[in-house]
Amino acid sequence: MNILEGIIEELNVIALTKKSNEQFEMINPGCSWFKQLCEGLGYPLENNQTNLDTSDLCSLFPFIENFLIDANATWEASEASTACSGIWTEVDHLGIEFQLEAKALLIHDQAVLLIENKSPNYDQVHSIYQKARDIALLNEKLISELNQRQRQLQNDIERHLLRDKSIQQVAESIQGHTSAVMICQPNGEVEVLNKALVDIYKLDSNIDLQRISLLDQWLEEAERAYPELKRVIESGSYWEGEFESQNSLGSKHWVRLTIGPIRKPDGIISHYVCVANDISELRGTETTNAPGAGYDVTTHLPNRKHFWAHINDLAETELSSDYGIGLLYIDLDYFKRINDDLGHQAGDFLLSSIATRISRCVKYHDFVAHLGGDEFIVVVQYIEQTEQLEIVAERLLAAIHQPMFVNNQSLMMTASIGISSSFEPHIDPKELLKQADLAMYAAKELGKGQSRFYDPSMKKHIPHKLQRERELLDALERQEFVLYLQPQISLSGKESLRAEALIRWQHPKHGLLPPADFIAIAEESGLIVPLGNWVIRQACEMGVRLLNDGKQVSIAANISAKQLKHPDFFNKLTASLNETGMPANLLELEITESSFLEDLASVICLIKKIRSLGVTIALDDFGTGFSSLNYLRQLPVDFLKIDRSFIKELHVDHESQAITSSVITLARVLNIDVIAEGVETNEQLEFLKRSEVNFVQGFIFYRPLTFEALQQSYATIKKLNDENSL
Ligand code: C2E
Ligand code: CA
Ligand code: CA
Repeated sequence: MNILEGIIEELNVIALTKKSNEQFEMINPGCSWFKQLCEGLGYPLENNQTNLDTSDLCSLFPFIENFLIDANATWEASEASTACSGIWTEVDHLGIEFQLEAKALLIHDQAVLLIENKSPNYDQVHSIYQKARDIALLNEKLISELNQRQRQLQNDIERHLLRDKSIQQVAESIQGHTSAVMICQPNGEVEVLNKALVDIYKLDSNIDLQRISLLDQWLEEAERAYPELKRVIESGSYWEGEFESQNSLGSKHWVRLTIGPIRKPDGIISHYVCVANDISELRGTETTNAPGAGYDVTTHLPNRKHFWAHINDLAETELSSDYGIGLLYIDLDYFKRINDDLGHQAGDFLLSSIATRISRCVKYHDFVAHLGGDEFIVVVQYIEQTEQLEIVAERLLAAIHQPMFVNNQSLMMTASIGISSSFEPHIDPKELLKQADLAMYAAKELGKGQSRFYDPSMKKHIPHKLQRERELLDALERQEFVLYLQPQISLSGKESLRAEALIRWQHPKHGLLPPADFIAIAEESGLIVPLGNWVIRQACEMGVRLLNDGKQVSIAANISAKQLKHPDFFNKLTASLNETGMPANLLELEITESSFLEDLASVICLIKKIRSLGVTIALDDFGTGFSSLNYLRQLPVDFLKIDRSFIKELHVDHESQAITSSVITLARVLNIDVIAEGVETNEQLEFLKRSEVNFVQGFIFYRPLTFEALQQSYATIKKLNDENSL
C-alpha cells in the first residue's frame, strides 16, 4: 500500500476514477472495508482487481445507479461542482450495516467517484445519544404495552356489544377502567363515557352528555397528521393513532386513541367505540434533537412526524414546473394475521426487511417513511410523467413479493399501493396523502397485491365492501360473468389439448374486469362458492360443446380453498359432470397450497375421492405459498403449475432457475407433470424445453381466448402442440 492509498484508507473512502461509461478504476483497491462489503453482498473482488465494471457497481449498489445520472451531469459540467448522494444503508450477509455516502467530483478533468463508509463515525455520534435512545426505546416499549392493553379493551367492548349486551351493562364494566372510554353514535352523540375520560379532558361531570362533541374534536385534531382518518372510520375499519389534543381548559396533551366501529347485522354502523390514553409523559421525554427521534425504532426509517416535516418543507418551496411529485402509500396485505401467527418479533423482522427492500427500490432523492404499523410511504420527486410512478409501484410490489425466511419458513408478502401525484408548483400535502390513501384503499378492496392511481371518483364514494358484494350477487344473477380459455401447449407430445378457464366480469359500467378486481371480495364474502360452482358448470358445458364439434379439450377450472372446503362441493361437482355429460377425465381442478393449510388429512381424502371420478388435479401457483418440496410427496396431484413469478425471473435470477429445475426433477420422480405458466419470451421457452417441462401456458402462445376464439384456433393450437413436441 502506498502513502496515498494509506491516506485514503484512513479516510474510510474508496476512490474510483471513471475510465469510460462502462468502467471505473479503483485508486485504492486494497481498501479493506470495501472488499469486505463487496464480498458480503455477493460480489467478491479478485485479488489483483483494479477495474470495476459500472454494471457490477450498479448491481452491488442499486442506489448508485440512480446517483450516476447526477454524477455524470457533474462530470460533464463545464464548471467545477460536486454531487453528493446523501447517506444510504447497505446490509451484508451477516447483517452488518454500512452507512455509505457517494460523492462525484472533477479533479484535473478526471471524473472521480468517492464512496465513504460513514459507519465508524456514525457509531461514535450515535453512542453520544445512546442514553437518549435508551430512554426512547424504553418509552417505546411502554407505549407498545399500553397499545396492547388498549386494543384488548377495545376488543372486549366490541365483543360485548356484538353479543347484545346492553349499553348500560357495558357502561358499568368500563366505569373504573384506567383507559378513557367513550361509546357514541356515528353522529357523535355520546351514549357512554367513563371517569378516566372525564379526568383526562377535565370535563364537568354534570355536563349534558349529548352536548359533548369529542368525536368531532378528535377527528379534527388527528386529521392533521392522519388525513386518511375519516375514510378509515367511515369505511368501517378500525383506526389507531397518536396526536396532540386539547382538554376543556385549553391545555394540550398527547393522546393515543383507538376507534372501532360496531356494525348492525345489515352492515350499517351503529356505534363507535373509542378508547384513549394520555401518553404525554411518555412522549414528553422524547428528545426531539437526538438522532433517532424522527425515526421508527423497528425499521430505522423516518417516522410519521418526520414525514410531515419533510413534505411540509416541500410544500413551502416552489417546485420546478418541469417535474411532478408522487406519493406511494404502501400497506402490507394480511400483515396483522402474519403478526398474530408468527409473533411480534417475527413481525418486526418482516417490517424491517420490507423497509430495506422499499428503500432499495427508490432513487436517492426520494423519501421513504414508515408511517406506523404496516404502512409505508414513498415520496417520489422529479417525475416527468405519472407512468413513472407505476414503474416504481411495480418494482415495489415485486420487491415486497420476494420470498422471506422467518422462523425457518419461507413466506411471501404482498402489498396494496395507492398512488397520487401533483404537477403544481405548490403541493397540498394533506390532500396528496388523502388521495394516495383512498387509492390504496381501492387497491385493497379490489383484491390486494396491486397498485391503483387515485381518481376523483374514489372520493365520491368510498367503495364499500357491502356494496361490492351486492353488485357481485346481482352480476351472478344477471349472468355477467364469462369464462375465457387459455391454451396450454404440450412440449412432450401425444397429449390431448388443454386449456385453463379464467373468469372475467362483463361489467355494465366498467367493461371487462379481470379476476383481480373481484375474486378477493367474492372470497371474503363467501360468494366464491356459488360463483365457483358456476365456473365448474360452465367449464363442463364448454367441454361438451367442443366435443360435439369434434374437438377434444381438457379444461382446468380454478377452485378457491373456501369453495373446495364447502360441504356441498363434491355433490355439486358430480352434478355438473352428470347433468352436462362432460367426461370426468376432461375436467381438471386447479387448487392452491392454501387448500391444504388446515386439515390436511380431510382435504387429501376429498381430493382422492375427486380423482377416483377421473377428474385430474393441478397444484396451482406452486412456489409462492408455504410450499416445501417434501410436503409435495404427500399430495395426490396430477399436475404442478410453476408460478409465473419464477418464470418471470428465469433469465436474470439463478435462484429461480435452480428452484424451477429442482421442482421439475422432483415432479418427474413423483410422476407428476409440470406446467409452466406466464411464459412470455423465447428464452424462457428454451429454458423450459431444456428442462423438459410438459406444458407451457403463456402469452408467448396465447392470451386467454373467448370460447369462440378458441374454437376457431383449434387447428392452429393442435399444430403448435405437434410442432413443439420433442
Ligand atoms: P392463475 O390461476 O395463476 O391464472 C393465470 C393468470 O396468469 C391469468 O390471469 C392469466 O391471464 C395470466 N397469464 C397467463 N399467461 C400469462 C403471461 O404470459 N404473462 C402474464 N403476465 N400473465 C399471464 P387472470 O385471468 O387475470 O387470472 C388471475 C387469477 O385469478 C388466476 O391466477 C386465478 O387465481 C384467479 N382466477 C381466475 N379465474 C378464476 C376462477 O374461475 N375461480 C377462481 N377461484 N379464481 C380464478
Ligand atoms: Ca390457475
Ligand atoms: Ca397460477
